[in-house]
Amino acid sequence: MYSLGIDIGSASSKVVIIDDTQAVVVSAVVPGGTGTTGPVKVLDEVFAKSGLGWDDIGRTVATGYGRISFLQADNQISEISCHALGVHHLLPSVRTIIDIGGQDVKAMSISKEGIVSKFVMNDKCAAGTGRFLEVMARVMETDVSQLGELAGQADSPVDISNTCAVFAESEVISRLAAGVTQANVAAGIHQSVARRVSGLAMRVGVTPVVVLTGGVAKNSGIVDALAHELQQPVTVAPNCQLTGALGAALMAMRELMHLKPQASIA
Ligand code: ADP
Repeated sequence: MYSLGIDIGSASSKVVIIDDTQAVVVSAVVPGGTGTTGPVKVLDEVFAKSGLGWDDIGRTVATGYGRISFLQADNQISEISCHALGVHHLLPSVRTIIDIGGQDVKAMSISKEGIVSKFVMNDKCAAGTGRFLEVMARVMETDVSQLGELAGQADSPVDISNTCAVFAESEVISRLAAGVTQANVAAGIHQSVARRVSGLAMRVGVTPVVVLTGGVAKNSGIVDALAHELQQPVTVAPNCQLTGALGAALMAMRELMHLKPQASIA
C-alpha cells in the first residue's frame, strides 16, 4: 500500500511516494509549478521511475500554492502542516523551520511533538524569496544554482539596500557598472535576502534547532548568510525541496491507516 504527496509550488512541482512503513519509494522535482505542465510531468516521472501507477496509490494529499487546483487529490493540506510533519519525521529535534520557496517565505515554530505553535508568512512581494534570487542571477548573467558559489568568492561584500526586487535590480546593475566584482555583489544579494528572512523568523522566535527547507536551501550562500544573521547554526533539511511533499505523503498515509476498516475480531 502506497501514499502519494504532491507539492505544487509557484516555481516547481514535487512528488514523494511512501510505503506503509513510511519509507520513501520514489521522489522527483521538476521545474514548473501551478498553472504549468509541472504537476503532470512530475507524476509521469515518479510513475516511470518506480513502475507504480494510480491503481497502486491508496491515498493522495496535495499541498503547496497550487494544491486546490489538483483534482486527483483526496485531500488538500497547507504547506505549513506538511513542512512541519516532513521536518519532524526527519529531524525530531527541530524547533524552528524556515521555508524559502519561489514566491514566499514562511517561518514556523514547532513543539517537540511536531505541532506548529506559531507561523508567519511573507507572500506579498518578491523580497527575500527564490524569485528575488532568480531575478538577480539573471542580471548577473548566471544561473541561480551558481549564485551561492559566486558569493563564496567575495572578499568585500557590497550592501544592497533595496529590498524591492525592481529597485534592487537597478542597484545591482549600477554596482556592477561601477566595477564591483560579481562575487561581492552576489554576497551582498545573499545578505539582503538573509536580513529579510531573519526579520521574519524573529517574529516567531528562533529556537534551536533551526532548519531551512525549500529550493532556496540548496543555495549555500543563503544558508551561510542566514546563519550569520541569526547568529546560530542553520541545518539544511535532507532533500530540502521535497520536505512539503514528504509531509503530504505522510499525512496521506496517516489518513489511509485511519480510514482503513478495522480488522474484525473473530
Ligand atoms: P516553490 O515551492 O514555491 O515552487 P521551491 O521550494 O521549489 O519553490 O524553490 C524555488 C526556488 O529555489 C527558486 O526560485 C530558486 O531560487 C531556488 N533553487 C532551486 N534550485 C536551486 C539550486 N539548484 N540552487 C540554488 N537555488 C535553487
